Amino acid sequence: MNIDNYNFNGKKAIVRVDFNVPLDENGNITDDTRIRGALPTLEKILKDGGSLIIMSHMGKPKGKVNPKFSLGQIKDAVAKALGTDVKFAPDCANAAEAAANLKPGEVLLLENLRFYPEEEGKPVGIEKTDAGYEDAKKEMKARQKDFAKTLASYADVYVNDAFGTAHRKHASTAVIADSFDADNKMLGYLMEKEVQAVDNILSDIKRPFTAIMGGSKVSTKIGIIENLMDKVDNLILCGGMTYTFAKAQGGKVGLSICEDDKLDLALDIIRKAKEKGVNLVLGTDCVAADAFSNDANTQVVSCMEIPDGWEGLDAGPETRKAFQDVIKTAKTILWNGPAGVFEFDNFTAGSRAIAEAIVEATDNGAFSLVGGGDSVACVNKFGLADQVSYVSTGGGALLEAIEGKVLPGVAAIKG
Ligand code: AMP
Repeated sequence: MNIDNYNFNGKKAIVRVDFNVPLDENGNITDDTRIRGALPTLEKILKDGGSLIIMSHMGKPKGKVNPKFSLGQIKDAVAKALGTDVKFAPDCANAAEAAANLKPGEVLLLENLRFYPEEEGKPVGIEKTDAGYEDAKKEMKARQKDFAKTLASYADVYVNDAFGTAHRKHASTAVIADSFDADNKMLGYLMEKEVQAVDNILSDIKRPFTAIMGGSKVSTKIGIIENLMDKVDNLILCGGMTYTFAKAQGGKVGLSICEDDKLDLALDIIRKAKEKGVNLVLGTDCVAADAFSNDANTQVVSCMEIPDGWEGLDAGPETRKAFQDVIKTAKTILWNGPAGVFEFDNFTAGSRAIAEAIVEATDNGAFSLVGGGDSVACVNKFGLADQVSYVSTGGGALLEAIEGKVLPGVAAIKG
């Protein structure tokens, strides 16, 4: 079913959203992008005359009740965004009465799904290597099904609008869909947009296709890097990964972040890029610091010759220019992961150079997709989010979708 064609009038809709918003120490929301992202879906349901049951996770409470991660903290913000009162169910697995009492146009927000281990479906208190793990896993999967059925029992129709968790087979993101027939389950508008953006990148690639992968480590990005190698013309690898590549090629990286057990992997990536004719662009110079601090002393040095006691925290000027030259001529662009420790104002230049070049390429007709929490934080920090083609709410989900994997959250609905 397609959300546009569905009439929610008189129906109770349970909607999985991603309201895992960042909070400050007083519980105030510091970035409400995710709440705003879900509004088109939530508003459509209310406008049609449906009643709304909103469910989400927040943080990692690991299957235990923890007030620090209570969705009660964001109830008022959700009410304000929707322009209507929001009721709160303090126990998501015991909300049948509250759901049954909802009238058309009314909204119920369920407490954090991850206060129950059944949401993620991972056995608690037992390691994979322990005896009895397989039995514990089976038992938890059965409990997960029951938990999903309980959530499903609150509503007539299920909508999944949580792209950020679509790569997880959790109770609320996938298992719950089994309780609804094909006419009463669908993707929300945000999910549809995200899936479409990935499709734009993969199905109709305008060349050159340039991917920029940054962040701290090679190990967490290796799957997508290898996969992209079959698709892109240019692959820029930046951020902390730079130093694993530099060391692998015989460089001295000082205190820079470096994965010593991934040096062979780095050489392998360089070799594969050559074989496949991919233009691999790595940092050549960096801004090195004498401490991991915004106020550290800095100097620009070669990535291959970082002095003892210093660490590369951002791309240097020569590198920034090389990155920009490649990005500006691209017609399809994917950016995931910063080029430096952008959280420190003095180490934003690399990420800013990338963001600005992406904006210029987009102006010249490129399709640009920025995804993953930190690159999104970058474009927001630089005030450039509205000047790229699409900013994804997904990190892991986006990368898995681009790798060509079918996301469980999408498969549960589309089959
Ligand atoms: P990831 O979670 O792997 O996408 O990495 C994002 C993090 O990488 C951000 O918090 C950045 O501060 C960090 N990062 C980027 N460049 C460096 C670097 N040269 N040294 C240490 N951390 C870095």
